[in-house]
Amino acid sequence: MDVLVIGSGLAGAGVAWALARSGRCRTLTILETETSPGQHASSQNAAMIRQIEEDPAVQPLAAEGAARLRAQPSDWLDEVPFRRVGSLLVAAGPSWLATREVARLARSWGVHSEAVTRAAAIALVPQLDGAQIDGAIWSPDDGVVDVHALLRTLLDTAAHNGATLLFDRRVTGLIVRGGGVRGAVTTRGSVEADVVVNAAGAWAATVGAMAGSNLPIRPLRRHLHVSEPLPTLRAGQPLVWDVSRGAYFRPESGGLLMCACDESPAEPGVPLIDPAMDDRLAAHMTSCFPALAQIGLRRRWAGLRSFAPDRRFVLGEDARGLFWAAGLGGHGVTTCTAVGRLLAEAILDGTPIAAALHVRRLG
Ligand SMILES: Cc1cc2nc3c(=O)[nH]c(=O)nc-3n(C[C@H](O)[C@H](O)[C@H](O)COP(=O)(O)OP(=O)(O)OC[C@H]3O[C@@H](n4cnc5c(N)ncnc54)[C@H](O)[C@@H]3O)c2cc1C
Repeated sequence: MDVLVIGSGLAGAGVAWALARSGRCRTLTILETETSPGQHASSQNAAMIRQIEEDPAVQPLAAEGAARLRAQPSDWLDEVPFRRVGSLLVAAGPSWLATREVARLARSWGVHSEAVTRAAAIALVPQLDGAQIDGAIWSPDDGVVDVHALLRTLLDTAAHNGATLLFDRRVTGLIVRGGGVRGAVTTRGSVEADVVVNAAGAWAATVGAMAGSNLPIRPLRRHLHVSEPLPTLRAGQPLVWDVSRGAYFRPESGGLLMCACDESPAEPGVPLIDPAMDDRLAAHMTSCFPALAQIGLRRRWAGLRSFAPDRRFVLGEDARGLFWAAGLGGHGVTTCTAVGRLLAEAILDGTPIAAALHVRRLG
């Protein structure tokens, strides 16, 4: 079977890795418009591996992806650095009760977690002092991954197993023949294939439209900030996510990487930075975590997370014979290898994909 993957971000890399290791593709080609891989969402993220997910359809994929980073498959050409610092999901009021329930469900997927008191959370992370929280879910197996090493290792391993990576090749059209998508036209020639996978991230809807599909996968912009060095930082302290109010932080470069969980509609491309986000971030972090009131900012950037209207992944083969690995929202780092495995099994063996995540639910 000849397979073509469009996009060399984490979604495309996960699919390519899983397909190539099977040894069952006659040819496997990855087409990327940029001159190097992962220049968009896959290098603009917070690199956090968080296993407790509100969406029960995503939960097992998050658990699988995190387990793979801890165990590191023997076929990976390089070790992918993963700092298993753990996570604290902090919450207050009704969302504290809801978070405890989500954690209970996650445990049934083998995710190790326990509820801890506010005092215990502050003992782990001093910057939580003064925060209005009722408690926290402690997940010791979560952490932070070297996201560039993950992408590189997936692509290098795929190439080692026979995949061809072609950069500077923008897909401008899809070849539709015999009731299916059978290749792509690029800025530097055409490539024929039996199966085409759309892993184009924020451009997934654009690529799908080339085969006549009209799926509303939309990018939302989000900013990340890195602070000045922080004297209260403890070595190896966990990442913190306030699920009640939407904010997170984790250690980065001697300070904190922080996010106010902002989202605003954007066009596919390199997102513009909104300078007003500096003040909004500072105000939101101070309100959630008063101990961070005086924290100075060193740098910031923005990235695009892409979502279907129901915010669930868009996976599997559509009615036009195009496979999708898209709409991974804010979970693509954690789940890319699980998504890759699912897609490979669907392509090679016709293994069904859960209806909740299947592209055909979108009509
Ligand atoms: C601010 C932010 C924070 C995040 N934090 C986390 C986190 O902590 N943990 C987590 O699990 N996830 C996180 N994510 C989500 C994660 O980064 C994404 O889900 C993931 O990177 C999506 O990968 P992708 O391959 O689908 O998209 P991309 O990385 O955007 O890759 C798509 C690729 O397709 C290429 N392409 C597009 N159109 C064409 C075309 N016509 N022809 C050829 N190539 C094309 C693009 O150039 C690009 O390289 C975060 C995302 C953002 C933005």
